Amino acid sequence: MSDPRRSLLEISPQELGAWMVERGHRPFHAGQVYRWIFERRAEGFDVMSDLPKRLRDELAEHWSVFSMTISKHQVAPDGTDKLLLECRDGRRVECVLMAEVDRRTVCISSQVGCGMGCVFCASGLKGVERNLTKGEIVEQIVRSRNLLPLDERLTNLVVMGMGESLANLDNLIAGLDWVCSNEGLGMGQRRVTISTVGLPEKMRKLAALDRSYNLAVSLHAPTASLRDELVPINAKVGLDDVMDAADEYFRRSGRRVTFEYVMLRGINDGLAEARALADLLDARKAHANLIPYNPVPGLPYERPTAESVRRFEGVLKARGLSVSVRKTKGREIDAACGQLRRRSEVAVGGDGGSGAVQVSGAASPLFDEAR
Ligand code: SAH
Repeated sequence: MSDPRRSLLEISPQELGAWMVERGHRPFHAGQVYRWIFERRAEGFDVMSDLPKRLRDELAEHWSVFSMTISKHQVAPDGTDKLLLECRDGRRVECVLMAEVDRRTVCISSQVGCGMGCVFCASGLKGVERNLTKGEIVEQIVRSRNLLPLDERLTNLVVMGMGESLANLDNLIAGLDWVCSNEGLGMGQRRVTISTVGLPEKMRKLAALDRSYNLAVSLHAPTASLRDELVPINAKVGLDDVMDAADEYFRRSGRRVTFEYVMLRGINDGLAEARALADLLDARKAHANLIPYNPVPGLPYERPTAESVRRFEGVLKARGLSVSVRKTKGREIDAACGQLRRRSEVAVGGDGGSGAVQVSGAASPLFDEAR
């Protein structure tokens, strides 16, 4: 039976305040409720001890803190946490919490499934089912934060899970703006990176919002013809317009754009592509993030050799470009890019998401995020 109560993360402190006034309570209690959730990690109303008992009871009757349930929680030997969250409609999304020496990064999903159809990616195999709501976006972040020891905070947030972020621009920005505000977790917008397949119109719309979020564009190919093959949406939008919109984002936000480049063995990992990529990025104050492919069962693509990654990186560096190579975290639990939700669909099936699965071990920080 689905819980009929709405999540408080779907509304705002102002809306909750108005609801309280209607019921004869004072509106400042709304601020207290959200402080309990964002600052003190409350996941229910019982613990909100400075609220009148009657108000707590009414809140519990009409609202819930979260709307999703944890269907599965896995911990990889390197300390990476993966949460499989089940939405009210039974659909599932995943988010991943990665720990490094001085960073705690959460990677969230923006949609159930994905409609972009990048040929190597697991998320788009079955198309897009729906956008996540503002509350579901915020919930992934808050639930991940709640896994951290009490003295730790989230330092970075990347929208690099399932879905095309900018296809859900309004809900995503509403959620991120809240998390980044002082009424939320107070994270700096500069600690947030939104990854997009490259939808020029939406990139311009985001630029016009004048936020300080980092933008990462999934380029994956230096030429239009190769990009048309790997990223089918490119045939519609055109590489030139993607680059133009990225330039506009940089001009308006002052934030250096990252170009992600998934390296596929024998397809886009050669010296010719490296040189063409250097040509493309040369005039731009951009950053390149090389991502060695994480093979997806059933798809024909392979991880590049360490040698070809090194050579590719060398070409870009020799041209004076800023470049990093992404390390994979949480591979043992399929937390790697493009792997989210897939195994659970194959294996979990009807288990209905009972308790937590713990696969823990020693921590070994590996993840090297975009910047
Ligand atoms: N729709 C957004 C977010 C996707 S996930 C986008 O396209 O950017 C973030 C990154 O992971 C993208 O660059 C995506 O192309 C990449 N990715 C997808 N599947 C992958 C895989 N199996 N191995 C490595 N990177 C992958």
